[in-house]
Amino acid sequence: MKKILIVEDEPSMRMGLSDNLEFEGYEVSVSSDGQAGLQLILNNSFDLVVLDVMLPSMTGFEICKTVRKKGNSTPIILLTAKGEEIDKVRGLELGADDYITKPFSLRELLARIKAVLRRQSVTTDNQTSAPSSNAIELGRLRVLPDAYEAFSDEEPIKMSHKEFEIIRYLWEHARQPVSRYDLLENIWGYEDDQPTTRTVDNFIVKLRQKIETNPNDPRHILTVHGVGYKLIP
Ligand code: CA
Repeated sequence: MKKILIVEDEPSMRMGLSDNLEFEGYEVSVSSDGQAGLQLILNNSFDLVVLDVMLPSMTGFEICKTVRKKGNSTPIILLTAKGEEIDKVRGLELGADDYITKPFSLRELLARIKAVLRRQSVTTDNQTSAPSSNAIELGRLRVLPDAYEAFSDEEPIKMSHKEFEIIRYLWEHARQPVSRYDLLENIWGYEDDQPTTRTVDNFIVKLRQKIETNPNDPRHILTVHGVGYKLIP
């Protein structure tokens, strides 16, 4: 049974989530305080944490940052309030696996939880049974870079050689900002028809359409303003 921790100070939200997740078959623990939640995460091995951002004694962002700093990779889904939406990229940069904005439907949260848990088990399986050059799982997209095969929602799709190389490069530099010039130099090299940074942007647009559930609100290939892009697995 998968173990989920809910850290949320609002009693009705905490109890509602707890009841529903238990009903879905998860083993649920709860905390209403930031510091206490942090200690629970560090001292237990939860399969996933649903973490509110605005909490007494410590924010969800601070918790996330501290947990990752200590080398703990427990998957975290942040609950942000509407006005905090601007902070979503910050949340992902601090090491959250996903976020969901209040008010949200239970169905949506359950879908996110399942997706994060599935990604987690894929990562763990890969770590124990196969070298890192195997499948890249990114949102709707699954890529076998060595075989030059790609699937979107498990349907085979066509991807160009350049698209494979870009994904592979971003994947190898996951969570780090990669500049357009890095990509030009490493993917295009010194080809005759001089590509521009605009070429890179066009490729990213195409890749987002294959990866992201909503290409206008990307969660996996983020724009780093003035620099380039950052891949969040
Ligand atoms: Ca709160």
